[in-house]
Amino acid sequence: MKYISTRGLKAEKYGADAIIEGLAADGGLYMPKVLPKIDILDIDNLDYKALCVKILEKFFPQFKKSDLEKICQYDKFEIEEIVKVKSFEDKSFLELFHGPTASFKDMALSLLPNLMEYSYRLKNRKQKTLIMTATSGDTGSAALEAFANKKNFKIAVFYPVAGVSEMQKLQMDTVKADNVYVYPIEGNFDDAQNAIKELFLDPEISFLANKNNYRLSSANSINIGRLISQTVYYYYAYLYLMKAKIISDTKKLDISVPTGNFGNILAAIIAKEMGLPIENIICASNANNILTEFIKTRKYDIKREFKRTLSPSMDIIISSNLERFLFLSADYDHNIIKKSYNELKENNSFKWKENLPSYLKAMSVNDDSTIKSIREAFERYNYLIDPHTAVAYEASKLSNNHCLIVSTASPYKFADSILMAIDNENRIENSLESKLKKIEKISASKMPNSIAKMLKVKTPEKEKIEISKIKTEIKKIMEESI
Ligand SMILES: *Cc1c(COP(=O)(O)O)cnc(C)c1O
Repeated sequence: MKYISTRGLKAEKYGADAIIEGLAADGGLYMPKVLPKIDILDIDNLDYKALCVKILEKFFPQFKKSDLEKICQYDKFEIEEIVKVKSFEDKSFLELFHGPTASFKDMALSLLPNLMEYSYRLKNRKQKTLIMTATSGDTGSAALEAFANKKNFKIAVFYPVAGVSEMQKLQMDTVKADNVYVYPIEGNFDDAQNAIKELFLDPEISFLANKNNYRLSSANSINIGRLISQTVYYYYAYLYLMKAKIISDTKKLDISVPTGNFGNILAAIIAKEMGLPIENIICASNANNILTEFIKTRKYDIKREFKRTLSPSMDIIISSNLERFLFLSADYDHNIIKKSYNELKENNSFKWKENLPSYLKAMSVNDDSTIKSIREAFERYNYLIDPHTAVAYEASKLSNNHCLIVSTASPYKFADSILMAIDNENRIENSLESKLKKIEKISASKMPNSIAKMLKVKTPEKEKIEISKIKTEIKKIMEESI
């Protein structure tokens, strides 16, 4: 199994190299040269970890099975099964938020340090890695949790103060480890993301990294290792629903995915292309509707305002993983990708003239509908969903089949939105603790331990830094001698 760049770089790479490099040298993203096929009859009856090993084996045949078993650990998860499926009438919710930071980012980021460490070992590389990440909340907390105290790694996370929830902020500010650096910043997520992207191209930073033996990396979903580990839960959910007789050869399954950087939905698309018999895949966006518009009109247009919404982890203008999907849709023709992305650079837009698969549907859901949708799910099913999941729930109304809604965060991570939807009275003056307790009472469900833990920690006062200071901080980190 070899990996190739979406932009046509001649060199083909093994999985370990693709994981180490993250981004290909020509600026493209790595894709498996061919997608492996998996027969669901071969994987029936495996538990989550065994299923994960089985799928990763197909993508990384150079990795030893016994090593993959060590890589596929989810030891910080709060439930034995790793993920849960909850079914009501013609909908099922795939809960991906039982990890250490209560969002689906834990699914892939729990494995990423293991995959990276192992790839380094396989290639005999003796470098330190500095992870630099801009986050709108969930990636930051999950990456901090995953890389904290990992030998030979340092991680720096930058988050926009005004763009994250109270709980997300707490989760990031309170991680304690010598190798983590957390910075609240002025500006929005895209400002932070652009600043970090520039650092990756900055000669002074590259020079310093070389001198001090650092490899620079980002934990975001451009890394192929992250993407592949996300295909696992689609297989798991499918098998679960088959066993529960909720779906069958004649009763088809659609999937609705709350989408930001297009990583999670791309994993569903890849699973379908690998043979998982999913019928339709729905791309659910919030008011930042570039993707849903693209799917409907074939015009990708990034000339627009960044909108802050109640689903902050989906507030994004440029979705990196779309490039991989377009590469798939263009039958791996890198010339088409290069042309489109050059056009994007010049005009901030491009028109897609190739095919897009007809199984891909799209809906954009604004904040008002998000709140209504949280309320509706609660009234109908007595089940609480967070605002990101609510966007996908609303969009699942496009489906005429049984629809699996990907549930990407615990409602306890977004207490304000939940209370706005189901109890709009006392929300302003309440403390975080009383808000969370109130949600427990209303929903008769317990908050995750990872959230409860946050109520006991003391929050350090962190000072905001200006975007222009990010580079200085990164330099300091690389000069420090741990
Ligand atoms: C990151 C995130 C998303 C969006 O996932 P992508 O893979 O970036 O499309 C949706 N919901 C939550 C809670 C997230 O953290």
